[in-house]
Amino acid sequence: MSKYQKNLSRGDIILSAKELLDAIAAEVVVCRKCDLWKSRKNAVPGEGDPESQVMFVGEAPGYWEDAKGIPFAGAAGKLFDTLLSDVHLSRKKVFISNILKCRPPKNRKPLSYEIKTCTTYLDRQIQAVQPKFIVTLGNCSTSYIFSEVSLPFDGITKARGNFHEVAILGIQARVFPTFHPAAALYSGEYRELLHRDFKLLKSNLTNYIFNI
Ligand code: URA
Ligand code: SF4
Repeated sequence: MSKYQKNLSRGDIILSAKELLDAIAAEVVVCRKCDLWKSRKNAVPGEGDPESQVMFVGEAPGYWEDAKGIPFAGAAGKLFDTLLSDVHLSRKKVFISNILKCRPPKNRKPLSYEIKTCTTYLDRQIQAVQPKFIVTLGNCSTSYIFSEVSLPFDGITKARGNFHEVAILGIQARVFPTFHPAAALYSGEYRELLHRDFKLLKSNLTNYIFNI
């Protein structure tokens, strides 16, 4: 059976991961399922390698993401890029998404009804990419993914830096929580821990690829 056969969504047509992601993105950019569409400039569906082994999940677009329509486009994004390149990864090699695809006004925290409504897109993206590693950035995305797989969540500070082998949406994956890069912008200690977590992620990824 082909890798994507289980994602059949249109009769007998078998869609590639890229086709599935493009179809999801096309729905997201015109979505009006929660009120956030009213204040957005651009929705931010996510981007990256459709076949990547690693998927990063942030919280929601902020000012620059909303302005440009791409994830992690502001100051936190710059730090995220540095963290990736320090371990010889890049945006082109991973897939980056968020819990919410539209910016909450004034960057307020996502509401639970927004999370419930919007994560149908994230779930479909996970099913399309079928990543071996799901890296949750910060409290919001870690709490969502942990609840999907019935893992107890007691805050990102306790959860970060540990791998959890899970079955999620029909996929076997390792969930790896770490801090949100925005939290590390003004904290050397958080930056250091994030850097350490990215190194640990990279070595696990290398071992995984080496062993398949
Ligand atoms: N913060 C996020 O959680 N996601 C983004 O895309 C940008 C900032
Ligand atoms: Fe649709 Fe999500 Fe945007 Fe709400 S946040 S309008 S559910 S894409």
